[in-house]
Amino acid sequence: MKHKNIAIFVPHAGCPHKCSFCDQNTITSQGSLPRGEDVARICEQAFSQIGDLTETEIAFFGGSFTAIPKPYLLELLSAAKPYAARCKGIRISTRPDCIDDGILEILKAHHVSAVELGVQSLDDAVLLKNERGHTAQEVWDAAGCIRKNGLELGLQIMPGLYGATPESDFQTCKAVCAIHPDTVRIYPVVILKGTHLGDLLESGAYQPRPFSGMVREVAAMMEQLADEGIRVIKVGLHASEFVAEQAIGGYYHPAFRELCESAVFRKRMEAAVLQEAPAKERTLAVHPTCISKAVGQKRANLRYFYDTCGIRIKVIGDGNVPPFHVKIREN
Ligand code: SF4
Repeated sequence: MKHKNIAIFVPHAGCPHKCSFCDQNTITSQGSLPRGEDVARICEQAFSQIGDLTETEIAFFGGSFTAIPKPYLLELLSAAKPYAARCKGIRISTRPDCIDDGILEILKAHHVSAVELGVQSLDDAVLLKNERGHTAQEVWDAAGCIRKNGLELGLQIMPGLYGATPESDFQTCKAVCAIHPDTVRIYPVVILKGTHLGDLLESGAYQPRPFSGMVREVAAMMEQLADEGIRVIKVGLHASEFVAEQAIGGYYHPAFRELCESAVFRKRMEAAVLQEAPAKERTLAVHPTCISKAVGQKRANLRYFYDTCGIRIKVIGDGNVPPFHVKIREN
């Protein structure tokens, strides 16, 4: 059964910081905070439309949930609790330095099932340059505390930040694998107008790496995480006209995940083709759900093979090929 989130945004609520890249009101395209009655109304409406609630979570995103002042935190949790008891539970996101046993007790008492930590980087120099206000060690400590309390753990990382390099982002992914969360979200940095990163970009002090390289790097991270059995539940910010309007640099693309998956396929198709004797045409079988990823946006992967080595590739669907695998077929 497919997982569903009933998303309730609490933009910047409780957050004691202003990270270099953050503008939650633009990212969530919402300016005001919900009250308890809004939470109940949103849940009521969503529940009336979802048949089986087993894999549904009520998700508070967009702020530092555990740093929200207690009265408002309890207002939100109490409103969600009766609904949470009827579905998988409540999912929240927060900062690593806002987690301790006391707050986790409160969350558990209100049916919170999963905690996602905004990590962004596990390189202290990158965290400092981007004004995160916490260290890599605090991520490890918070992750351990969430695990000890028996909650699902999610980590969010942001490759391409100011001061980050392909190597430091790769090391962050390696450390994430070592922490071994249940889920990961990868949000390559999007530089928004009016943020500190926006100013650094405009002054020329910050020059993000090329887009195509970032696609390949994130594709490699996705492979690495998948090899470790870690679910990558989101790649790239959700498509939003507000973000598209405010983005002045970085890696916003409405189908960033699709681009990365096509990059994974290109690499695997290349490995499969190179194992065989040279030929002018090749037929490759992939799982039927993967045909568009193998072909690539605007047939980019097929054009790549033709332009670089003169091979015409035909992609066919075959339910016997596991997702993300490639098999050579006789022409
Ligand atoms: S901790 Fe989260 S909500 Fe707060 S400024 Fe940073 S990114 Fe934004």
